[in-house]
Amino acid sequence: MNPSVPGTAVESACLEKARLKAAYNSAAENLSRAVAVMQRYLGTMRHEEYENLKKYSERMRRESERALAALERHIAEHGC
Ligand SMILES: [Zn+2]
Repeated sequence: MNPSVPGTAVESACLEKARLKAAYNSAAENLSRAVAVMQRYLGTMRHEEYENLKKYSERMRRESERALAALERHIAEHGC
């Protein structure tokens, strides 16, 4: 949902690369936060909560892997 800025002045920065990197960073951040919560409250949280968190962290793991692959593919294709 980012407003796309037609790139002329910021051409060298590559907006797409920045966008892909930000997507990867936020997925990786969500993943590490979920893992930290799971480790911290393991044994005290309800089974159901744990399962939800586990599902969430698995989704974030897949998402971060996909985002990283997209970033690498972009860099390879775009040469930026
Ligand atoms: Zn690029």
